Amino acid sequence: MALRMLFRAAHRASSLRCFSAKPEFTSDRYNVERGPYAKISQEHLSFFDQLLGQNRVITNVDECEGYNIDYSKIVRGKSNVVLKPKTTDEVSSILKYCNDNRLAVCPQSGNTGLVGGSVPVFDEIVVSMKLMNKIIETNELAGVLTCEAGCVLEELENHLATVDLMMPIDLGAKGSCLIGGCVSTNAGGLRLLRYGNLHGNVLGLEAVKANGDVVDCLNALKKNNTGYHLKHLFIGSEGTLGIVTKVAIQCPPLPKAVNVAFLGLSSFDKVLKAFRLAKRELGEILSSFEMMDKLSLDISTSVFGLKSPLTTNIDGHDFYVLMETSGSNGNHDEEKLSSFVEKAMAEDVIEDGTLTSDPAKVKNIWALRERISEGILHEGYVFKYDISIPLPSFYSVIEVLRDRLRDPRILRISGYGHLGDGNIHVQVSIPKYEREIAAQLEPFIFEYICGLRGSVSAEHGIGFTKTKYLHMSRTSSEIKLMHQLKNMMDPNGILNPYKVLHPRQVPV
Ligand SMILES: Cc1cc2nc3c(=O)[nH]c(=O)nc-3n(C[C@H](O)[C@H](O)[C@H](O)COP(=O)(O)OP(=O)(O)OC[C@H]3O[C@@H](n4cnc5c(N)ncnc54)[C@H](O)[C@@H]3O)c2cc1C
Repeated sequence: MALRMLFRAAHRASSLRCFSAKPEFTSDRYNVERGPYAKISQEHLSFFDQLLGQNRVITNVDECEGYNIDYSKIVRGKSNVVLKPKTTDEVSSILKYCNDNRLAVCPQSGNTGLVGGSVPVFDEIVVSMKLMNKIIETNELAGVLTCEAGCVLEELENHLATVDLMMPIDLGAKGSCLIGGCVSTNAGGLRLLRYGNLHGNVLGLEAVKANGDVVDCLNALKKNNTGYHLKHLFIGSEGTLGIVTKVAIQCPPLPKAVNVAFLGLSSFDKVLKAFRLAKRELGEILSSFEMMDKLSLDISTSVFGLKSPLTTNIDGHDFYVLMETSGSNGNHDEEKLSSFVEKAMAEDVIEDGTLTSDPAKVKNIWALRERISEGILHEGYVFKYDISIPLPSFYSVIEVLRDRLRDPRILRISGYGHLGDGNIHVQVSIPKYEREIAAQLEPFIFEYICGLRGSVSAEHGIGFTKTKYLHMSRTSSEIKLMHQLKNMMDPNGILNPYKVLHPRQVPV
């Protein structure tokens, strides 16, 4: 009943939504002080014009706006300069000059990050990586792709498919996010369960330090235990230690058979039972196990008009699971998946289910899951939390929040995510940002997660919005070493200031 009320409220509200409203400036919303950086001058601009040519130095206020506002419209910077390098040497010259002149820099790729890390907080110079988009080498035999950091993930995926390889990472933002952005956030995504994370799949990379030094660790070998593995410093450090310019990635073979099952379930307990059964029955071919609650699925169906393939229950189900198998023998995989669904039905684990290997149907089913994050933005302001929680407590965070937040301004509290990785995305939507609601949510949600020994950011990173909570998922000795590394690699603190390590205050 409570679910239905929230859903109705969401429907009413979505027709009133002002989707294009600009967020408040970050510097106004949050109590954060501008660091001791120089302000951009005509002399600085002349240097950049000479280096890149005027058409790769953007200073037009309207054009800069898109680089100042993040995907979810939660933060907004005030930068008046966007630089678009095409080569590593240009990135190196930009950073050397910025470091010598104490100019702060915000590296940006596809700007799809969800923690406010990809846009400036004040007037940091945006270094957009979009023009560094060349594929350098595709080694079909070794399954290694080497490319520049500005390649769009989906374009890499399409390129690899022509040689029967695939990217080891896939996410809903693949049409916009760039590989360098994914590496810099150590993005997880929809198939981490099967292929692991980027710390494992990135064989090597090239990055430019704050002082302009190029660190070449573009190793393409699978095994190379010689000295420190420096690539790890740049994977997941969100542009605070250097700008990633090239990457070499281990790419698995493109599976010959992909099957998808879409299931309807009546309780979260049954979702867990289905996961246990799937691991047992499908073993090595299981490549995804995604969960969404009813209110999450309703976003994709109501905002985009997508259709659920399950039709037997007119009211829908309280929970849904999207499972994918990837293997080399279609018949074998289909048989295994059918046998799983039969068993799950017989054991009363699932209420309804459908299977398909038809590429068009597979795509439609995936869209139901992938478009949730985009669809909810139509409701106004969304508080998004990306957390790791031990599986038995996975969904409790949603129930606890629904219980705690009974404010009528709240449109929807919903949960979905990568259950197979113990990672849930929590979304709380309201028509527009409200400080009191933010205060009801934070720090409560992080303390709750901490109490369950979870992580305050499973895959999106710390960025700007989570800096205050880093200590809840990392020990003081780890944070001390992080500061030491930052001071050593970027002593003037010009790289993505106010992000990851910067201690800051609550919203004012
Ligand atoms: C619809 C949607 C679905 C998503 N799904 C997932 C998901 O399943 N799993 C997941 O992990 N994430 C997901 N994300 C968030 C995810 O972090 C980003 O989509 C992606 O990793 C960021 O890539 P980007 O190119 O947009 O980088 P940006 O957003 O531009 O940047 C992200 C961070 O990296 C830094 N950065 C960017 N490029 C570089 C570089 N070359 N060198 C150094 N630093 C750099 C930026 O300063 C910023 O701090 C999703 C986002 C959206 C919008």
